[in-house]
Amino acid sequence: MPIYALCDANNFYCSCERVFNPKLRGVPVVVLSNNDGCCIARSQEAKDLGIKMGDPWFKIEKWAVGKGVRAYSSNYVLYGDMSRRLYEILQRFSPRVEPYSIDEMFLDLNGFDIDLVQYGREVRSTVLAETDIPTCVGIGDTKTKAKLANFVAKKRPEFGGVCDLRDPAICEGLYPTIPLDEVWGIGRASAAKLQKLGLETVADLARYDITQGRNLLTVTGARVIMELQGTSCLPLTMMAPQRKGLAVTRTFGEAMPEWDGLAEAVATFATRAGEKLRQHGLLACVMTVFIQTNRFVPGEYYGNQATFGIEPTQDSLCLVRDALRGVRSIFRRGYRYWKAGVMLNELIDATTAPAQMFPTRDPLKSASLMAAMDGINARFGRGMLRPAVSGIDRKWTAKAEKLSPRYTTCADEFVCVRA
Ligand SMILES: [Mg+2]
Repeated sequence: MPIYALCDANNFYCSCERVFNPKLRGVPVVVLSNNDGCCIARSQEAKDLGIKMGDPWFKIEKWAVGKGVRAYSSNYVLYGDMSRRLYEILQRFSPRVEPYSIDEMFLDLNGFDIDLVQYGREVRSTVLAETDIPTCVGIGDTKTKAKLANFVAKKRPEFGGVCDLRDPAICEGLYPTIPLDEVWGIGRASAAKLQKLGLETVADLARYDITQGRNLLTVTGARVIMELQGTSCLPLTMMAPQRKGLAVTRTFGEAMPEWDGLAEAVATFATRAGEKLRQHGLLACVMTVFIQTNRFVPGEYYGNQATFGIEPTQDSLCLVRDALRGVRSIFRRGYRYWKAGVMLNELIDATTAPAQMFPTRDPLKSASLMAAMDGINARFGRGMLRPAVSGIDRKWTAKAEKLSPRYTTCADEFVCVRA
């Protein structure tokens, strides 16, 4: 019988901010979305103050600062690196670990004939000792149950951070207390349909007839019910499904009236899109670029996009050239641009793609140049080596006025300890 454990970090972004800044312990902390817009992570203290997910910072700032809330711009370099550390530690506890999101990872514990609650406690204490990130562990014979167990472990301190839902007695006691929409895969719309039929809690859903479930919620819903009943339908996928498209889009820190700034931004997005393609071993065949002004600022709105086929490539320089050509075709003078993006579609596997008859760049030279660029940027930080057209001072970059240091990846920003 399969056994899954889900290890999920508590308030991950806020916890990362606390690791290297002990002054933030016991203090309400929030992390803000791109451009310092909305609250996307809240420490327990911030939740207790009533701050909700997605609350716009400008609306609550005055009140929150008065309450002692500390706000940070999202520091994805730090969070990504802490996530990698979490993943590395978890790999010591299971031969198969599947990252599900930046702070949630499934462990395959199939065949582990030991006290798994105790094992889960060891996972927690090891992660805490080595990264200072608090986590909870949920265990189940299906992924859906492991996820639900994690929810219980987070909400109920009496479980000590580890909950095992393989025990039917525990399920029987807990299921009637958990609302339907806490189940993984049951969204608001599905929950509403079920509630109309009088189903309120996880206990009702677990008892629900599978055929009726399929009629009401399609096969996805039927799968959820079966998983709750202990039949595993969602195996561990070690490979992420192949991406169909990718996008790099940003809102600018300040609106841009000039072509030069806009071109810098778009070239930067195309460069980043190329990095993503190479990371996933893909080539793009279709590109969309768009630019727009801010709808909410009085004045005439202008937004436009262009979609066109490109020579299949993962070369950033080709992508920059194509993106700039696309943006030039839709650029209109006299507007203050606020947002732009580069999207790539019709992605194909680089290893099986047919060779180009008349490539505009030598494929071997292109591959070695991109490999050299990626190597240098991996070592010295993203954007260290980049096309000159993507700019030097880059005034357009998103607002991140409350950014914490990149404590773990940038030598200038390490914490210094003097004895
Ligand atoms: Mg989490």
